Amino acid sequence: MSHPWLAARTAQFDSSGIRKVFDLAAKMKNPINLSIGQPDFPVPDAIKNAACDAIHADRNGYSQTQGIPDLRERLQADLQKEYGHDDRRVLVTSGTSGALVLAMMALVDPGDEVIVFDPYFVMYPALVAMVGGKTVLIDTYPDFRIDLEKVEAAITPRTKLILFNSPSNPTGVVADEAAARGLAQLAAKHNIALLSDEIYRLFCYDAPLPSPAHHNPNVIVVDGFSKAYGVTGWRLGWVHGPAAIIDKMTMLQQYTFVCAPHPLQWAAVAALDVDMSPQAAEYAKRRDMVVAGLRDVGYEVADTGGAFYVFPKVPAGKGTAQEFVARAIENELLIIPGGIFSGRDTHFRISYAASEATLERGLEVLRKIR
Ligand code: PMP
Repeated sequence: MSHPWLAARTAQFDSSGIRKVFDLAAKMKNPINLSIGQPDFPVPDAIKNAACDAIHADRNGYSQTQGIPDLRERLQADLQKEYGHDDRRVLVTSGTSGALVLAMMALVDPGDEVIVFDPYFVMYPALVAMVGGKTVLIDTYPDFRIDLEKVEAAITPRTKLILFNSPSNPTGVVADEAAARGLAQLAAKHNIALLSDEIYRLFCYDAPLPSPAHHNPNVIVVDGFSKAYGVTGWRLGWVHGPAAIIDKMTMLQQYTFVCAPHPLQWAAVAALDVDMSPQAAEYAKRRDMVVAGLRDVGYEVADTGGAFYVFPKVPAGKGTAQEFVARAIENELLIIPGGIFSGRDTHFRISYAASEATLERGLEVLRKIR
């Protein structure tokens, strides 16, 4: 609905597709919910207790804009060990989303072009639009791998930034070492910013994550606590990159978010000592189960190595993804049509952050409606 007070930029957003799915879900008695992008494991007690302790210890005021020193120094030490870059600095943010917003504000001027891989995380084109940038999509169907020649061909004098996400939401695909290195080198060659969204770093099942920041010291990396520790509601993330960029983002945080939630930053310090590999191993098992279950009955699914999503193709003759998902929903199965994440509406996203019993029920519906 429009209103005369609304700014022109608000006309560019439309969340009706995904809202329709959630509205339908709200009416169901016992939905098989494979639509949710958050872990289903409980937050480890050590992390919850650290949050409660911080609240009881009256650590409830503002923190330093850039984050509490204990957390920043710990993250910085980990970065130093992994990358060894002299100039890499860290900022604690209100979720990975907060880091993405600040990066857009710091880097993108109106009219600047931002390269985004299709399918993409839903927020990317919206964030680009919010700062007046222009999204340039690069199609990665059918295997969701990055074609470096296509990227180079898309670069123009207006290109400012490449947004890269691996493991990917919504496809679960992990870009290989050659793609990560190639993108890092292209960004350096053309002097453009490369932002690597590594929020699913823990959920990398077949090999450690190849990060472009290993190949270019100027790569900006966003990461977060939401997925790795099951604390999506805590709104905690961080970003690291060249000091000159991170310092400006810190200044922008001062005038927007102020700081990340203070008591929860103390819990984040505790979280960094908790081993989440058993949870990741469990998700690897579910990935195997879902991919095999889909392929057994003829679904086309790309090889996925991470996050907790698969992005199968709608079977031939079964209409658009919207139409296919409507049929799934009639059978109580909630999944998301690909058009939400893409210029195409030919695939659908399944989240396997759900119990094996729920996944089994979901696969049964998918067998039935294919
Ligand atoms: N990036 C990607 C690729 C995501 O999937 C998400 C969450 N769905 C985010 C960033 C944002 O995460 P948060 O703000 O909770 O850290």
